Amino acid sequence: MGIRDVQGRLELRLDELLARAGHIGADLLGLHSADLDEAAVEVEADEALLGQSALLELEIAQVRGALSRLKSGDYGVCISCGAEIAPARLEAMPEAAQCLACADLRGKP
Ligand SMILES: [Zn+2]
Repeated sequence: MGIRDVQGRLELRLDELLARAGHIGADLLGLHSADLDEAAVEVEADEALLGQSALLELEIAQVRGALSRLKSGDYGVCISCGAEIAPARLEAMPEAAQCLACADLRGKP
């Protein structure tokens, strides 16, 4: 996979994520029902949306980070240890900023 393909994939992903974030934002701004029972359900739904939107923000930041590393020529190099990230990992997750070993370490308590 060439750098150009990666950039295309990341840009598409960013568009998709931004569109989803926009929908969630619009839902959150929607007016709540006057009916109390329904309003309670909507508050719960809002909490779920907020959780989703936090995840989206994180993904957007990762994709933007990957795009800026592409520009600076640091793409594909682990931001923690400086090792080259395995091509298979980048293929599966083009926004990966860390090699598998460092990502594993981070995921553990
Ligand atoms: Zn690493």
